[in-house]
Amino acid sequence: MADRPYIVGNWKMNGTRAMLSEARAIDRSAQRLMKVEVALAPPFTLIHAVHREVEQIGVGAQDCHSGPDGANTGDISAAMVADSGAKFVILGHSERRQDHGESNALVQSKINAAIEAGLRVILCCGETEETRDSGDAENYVCNQLKESLPSDFNKAEEALTIAYEPIWAIGTGRTPTVDDIESMHKAIRSLLISLYGAEQAAEVRILYGGSVKPENAKELLSAAEVGGALVGGASLTAESFLGIVIAA
Ligand code: PGA
Repeated sequence: MADRPYIVGNWKMNGTRAMLSEARAIDRSAQRLMKVEVALAPPFTLIHAVHREVEQIGVGAQDCHSGPDGANTGDISAAMVADSGAKFVILGHSERRQDHGESNALVQSKINAAIEAGLRVILCCGETEETRDSGDAENYVCNQLKESLPSDFNKAEEALTIAYEPIWAIGTGRTPTVDDIESMHKAIRSLLISLYGAEQAAEVRILYGGSVKPENAKELLSAAEVGGALVGGASLTAESFLGIVIAA
């Protein structure tokens, strides 16, 4: 597993060209903060422009289609994402699963397509508040992962990152305790070891996401098995995103 923390900003459906200055500011600081791997996932419309503006940070997409180029109005294939300058894609985010009805099987086929196109993948997983309260969160998340992990792990090993994002923590200002995060990340690590063996499982970084802010980043990132953060709201300005990068 790469030992540098990996801090990824997910701009979601935010950003016009006016926000390119934020990407530039993040990139300039990231050049001085070599101990952290920094990346941004702007909306599709800005990927190429951000890619042209930055030198140090990674640029990725927030989704892709599972199939080859073809008659799918409004969709973007993995090959098109790669051609736009993106090096990675976030897949299986809970907002896609909930708002677009994405099943584990669909997420898996998107991951397969992304890896085939040479993209790295951040696979998101996470439970609802109801599942957390029922005490079944770890089981639920591990099952979600089992069904959405790439079909051929040998091709994906170095390309795969997992992001644990409890749905109830996304954009709410609430976070799990460090103990709960550690326990979930350990369960995910054990699952990967049981599926792929210790050596291969160790290649996969597991990020935490959900209301990560400059004020809580140090504590959340100190949890065992947390290899970085996937950041939504706080990635929209260079100031708050860099606060998290510095804390890492
Ligand atoms: P948030 O979003 O940081 O705004 O909670 C995280 C995410 O959805 O990736």
